[in-house]
Amino acid sequence: MTFRGRLTLFLAALVLAPLVAGGLAAHLLAQRQADRDAGAHLEGAAPSVRAALAGEREAVATSVTARLAREAFGASSLELAELRRSAGLDFLIVVQRGTVTGSSIRQGGFAGTLVRSPRTILETARDAAPFVARDVEITGRTPGSVTGGRFLDRRFLERLSMPAFTVSHYSVLFSSSARPPSRIPSGGSFAMDGGYRGFCICTGGTPDAPSGIAILTRVEPVGFVPGFSPGILILIALGVLLATALAFELARVLSRPHERALGRLAESERLSMTDPLTGAPNRRSLEAALAEETKRATRFGRPFSVLMVDVDRFKRVNDEYGHAVGDRVLVEIAARIRKAVRSDLDVVARYGGEEFTVVLPETDPLGAVIVAEKIRDAVAVSPTEDGIDLTVSVGVASCPDDGVAADSLLAAADAALYQAKRGGRDRVVVGR
Ligand code: GH3
Ligand code: MG
Ligand code: MG
Repeated sequence: MTFRGRLTLFLAALVLAPLVAGGLAAHLLAQRQADRDAGAHLEGAAPSVRAALAGEREAVATSVTARLAREAFGASSLELAELRRSAGLDFLIVVQRGTVTGSSIRQGGFAGTLVRSPRTILETARDAAPFVARDVEITGRTPGSVTGGRFLDRRFLERLSMPAFTVSHYSVLFSSSARPPSRIPSGGSFAMDGGYRGFCICTGGTPDAPSGIAILTRVEPVGFVPGFSPGILILIALGVLLATALAFELARVLSRPHERALGRLAESERLSMTDPLTGAPNRRSLEAALAEETKRATRFGRPFSVLMVDVDRFKRVNDEYGHAVGDRVLVEIAARIRKAVRSDLDVVARYGGEEFTVVLPETDPLGAVIVAEKIRDAVAVSPTEDGIDLTVSVGVASCPDDGVAADSLLAAADAALYQAKRGGRDRVVVGR
């Protein structure tokens, strides 16, 4: 990524991060507040549920009188049913000498799988839920008891002003809400699926598994950005846009000097490695290429070759045609050499004056001579654009035959070049 891109991101993040963090914090706070509000609402409603429970107990206590018990004790089942109905009770159970001898239980009102035998009712009636019951002991010749009471079933729950469950030892038995859970997770206040909060007014059962009435309320859903009016949201969005635009502009302005300096650096680096006349890599660049090639050759045991190419009797070109033509000819010869080698692999550098060095990676002495001949031919084949016939002499040196270090290879190629000159020029000589 460019310096400017990074700067833009940094500045944009600088502006946006607090906004995002603030939004997130506001969202979490609003959520917690909504949860607290729901809890407070339930706690506020709890006394009315307790009052309803107390009313139910009161009603049972006034209905299940000693008189009613005595009448029930000897009654037939038809009479028992009539007694129960007229007393406004849901169940009336007679026990004589420890055995249930009569019972009347209102049908309906139950949902789910609660077993409604007189025994079950007697065993669980001591809990606050799902029954409110009263026992009356009967003494005399046939001792026993009469138990009457009411179910805390849907009928009771629907009288409460909010969705509620009857809970028995954490299990939900009746419910006035559409989708009740099968269990509540705890007594007191508890969170529920689907964005609800519940509160158990647990008045019986055991401390570990309480029974009672649980009420529930919906936790007010919190929007993505809570509590902000559309006007404020538009203002925030505009602010974000403006800040982002500013970040872009600031990054552009701040990065300009940096980018300019980088460009200048790259250009001066390129210039320091390039010969200004021919555009070929210069001696410095050649040394870097040679060092790289030596490293590779010694590590992988691969051969490479170096050619030293010198224009024959070039002084005469300057003398006869002038320096400007001489320069032009040098540019043309550099181009002819470049054309004669592999453009993607080989390096043609200007060693100095009218001398060029060619580095041939992955090339053994035999291959190097072929390339050298190609170069010699490319120059000799036709006169230059200025109509001058020219030739070159080439010295060939290869790694590892003629040395491994760059210096010794260059010296070997130079020595071979000297031999080529001595031998009459326009020729290729292999080193050593
Ligand atoms: P030979 O190599 O065949 O022995 O003869 P030569 O005449 O080429 O020999 P020498 O190396 O003595 O001369 C090289 C000449 O190249 C000297 C100089 O005038 C010329 N020369 C070197 N660099 C440049 C350049 O950049 N531009 C021009 N026009 N001439 C240059
Ligand atoms: Mg020369
Ligand atoms: Mg020379």
